[in-house]
Amino acid sequence: MHALVVTFALWCATVPVSAATVQPVAETEAVTSSGDAADDPCIWVNASNPKESLIVGTDKQTGLYVYTLHGKLVQSLPDGQMNNVDIRAGFQGRNGVSTLVAATNRTNNTIAIYRLDESTGILTGQNKGIESGVAVYGFCLYRNKAGAMYAFVTTKEGEIVQWRLQEDESGAVTGKRVRVLRVDGQVEGCVADDALAVLYVGEETRGIWRFNAEPNAGDERIAVDTVRPDGRLTADIEGLALYAKPDGKGYLVASCQGSNEFAVYSRELGNAFAGSFQVGATNAIDAVTGTDGIDVCSASLGGAFGHGLFVAQDDVDNSGTQNFKLVAWEAIEQVLHLP
Ligand code: CA
Ligand code: CA
Ligand code: CA
Ligand code: CA
Repeated sequence: MHALVVTFALWCATVPVSAATVQPVAETEAVTSSGDAADDPCIWVNASNPKESLIVGTDKQTGLYVYTLHGKLVQSLPDGQMNNVDIRAGFQGRNGVSTLVAATNRTNNTIAIYRLDESTGILTGQNKGIESGVAVYGFCLYRNKAGAMYAFVTTKEGEIVQWRLQEDESGAVTGKRVRVLRVDGQVEGCVADDALAVLYVGEETRGIWRFNAEPNAGDERIAVDTVRPDGRLTADIEGLALYAKPDGKGYLVASCQGSNEFAVYSRELGNAFAGSFQVGATNAIDAVTGTDGIDVCSASLGGAFGHGLFVAQDDVDNSGTQNFKLVAWEAIEQVLHLP
């Protein structure tokens, strides 16, 4: 071996590998609850006016908050201990389609149901949530190619309970339990790839699993990645989100709470690892650490978010209570050299 190669190999062995770092563009107003409170965001893409898109975030002690892309609080819904939240447009009801926002409410172990008015951006809650029969924790929605809407509720006992969501005669959203999947340990974060009929769940101390999202598909699971040293993840695996482009390409993103990193995988099945990044500080905005929930969208929202938006809960905000940070997907593309 040449001396130069030996020197390089030694250098590689001694220099720690640090994740690529991006910086936030904006941050939301902090939540009012102290301690561990902010948890999981979802993004509503305002198709007719993308710059007016909104972020719905949970405060797991008090309810939901709605923020603009500048981080300004525009609506507060103090309806219970909302842990995780998700959104889907195109929910087929008896009198047309609506945009559904739903969340796991740990106050009464229900799936809390909201409709988002696409013309005003205002959320309206349904009086009664869906009784889940389990101690609810994580949550995500899945709308299949035929247009059927499903919800997945995850638990600390490792269950993933699938619900079919439909309207009853009164127009209320009701749920029918259609399947239970199981992994060995606590699960929280999950995300569905509607176009590929795939469900990803994060077993917090172990790794990311991929299931078929269809209720009659069986319980076969595939390990996407595991924690170090065998894999590239660091526990706890918390939020999962999908950067889904209309052409079928895109990325799966996972929050590694213990290393303040976000792991990125190809959306195409096989889920090739594309790199990890961290969200560092700017002069005006503090860095992101200890993240719970995340969301990402591929839609062009204008300005810095022309290639889409990544949102991450920040465990420690310098205001004193927690908040969410907004990152331009374009910055992530650049540091990870994504095509
Ligand atoms: Ca968790
Ligand atoms: Ca969490
Ligand atoms: Ca911070
Ligand atoms: Ca801050």
